[in-house]
Amino acid sequence: MPSEAAFRIAARRGCVSVQAVAVPQTSVTCTFTFEAAHRLAWHPGKCRNLHGHSYRLDVTVRGPLDANGVVVDFDHLSDIVRREVVDRWDHRDLNEVIDNPTAELLAHRAWSLLTEAGLSLDALRLWETNDSSVELTPATES
Ligand SMILES: [Zn+2]
Repeated sequence: MPSEAAFRIAARRGCVSVQAVAVPQTSVTCTFTFEAAHRLAWHPGKCRNLHGHSYRLDVTVRGPLDANGVVVDFDHLSDIVRREVVDRWDHRDLNEVIDNPTAELLAHRAWSLLTEAGLSLDALRLWETNDSSVELTPATES
């Protein structure tokens, strides 16, 4: 993992001091929306019936700035997310995409599709409604 610290070297009167200087981490997020239907057969309430949501997907990538001063080109990130997730799920019955399409399982599927497509994700948040979302972050090593 690349170091997130830079070092400032100051020379004065023959002495050299090395000082760690914190560098802010940079992340970029693209947001997408799509409409889709699902039903949750196990649900005791009305979610067991076929219904639709206006989903919102926030995809965040973190990393160092490249020679152009960007973590990733927004257009490049957007193209991958649209190709791998949004275009596949928009105006679809999500029960035909995965079994038991809860927001959690959809978020995990989106994470897999995007990492397999080469994105190094820092976070992924799938909003099922305006006030309910699922967030995934990279697994931590222990
Ligand atoms: Zn639902």
